[in-house]
Amino acid sequence: MNDKQDRKPMRCSADGAKLNHHATMIRDPLNREEADSLDPVVDGVLIEVHACPKCGRGQPRPTGTIS
Ligand SMILES: [Zn+2]
Repeated sequence: MNDKQDRKPMRCSADGAKLNHHATMIRDPLNREEADSLDPVVDGVLIEVHACPKCGRGQPRPTGTIS
């Protein structure tokens, strides 16, 4: 996993635990902002899925999100 990215770690909205980067997936953009950050290589928006080690809750985040 790439933990060297200069972005804030995600925290669980339920218990505040630091989320682990679980997976990265691709989906179609849902709005204009996402369309602007669309990755032309994969023709979609890269979504990071972060999972909470405490409660197992999963939270997606577009990789293009500015911290
Ligand atoms: Zn949690």
